[in-house]
Amino acid sequence: MTKQTAADVVHAVPLDDGIVHEFTHHCPCGPAPQIVPGGVVLVHASLDGREQKETS
Ligand SMILES: [Zn+2]
Repeated sequence: MTKQTAADVVHAVPLDDGIVHEFTHHCPCGPAPQIVPGGVVLVHASLDGREQKETS
């Protein structure tokens, strides 16, 4: 899903994820900002294991 939180900021959050995302830069998933025409899309990572990253 996507949610616009400011005139030029949109959050893209995975559906049915295992956590509740905060619609801020400080979301625990560490959203990645993507510059798009007219603003920024903060792409939130899925924390339910679909995109598990190695942290060695
Ligand atoms: Zn998030």
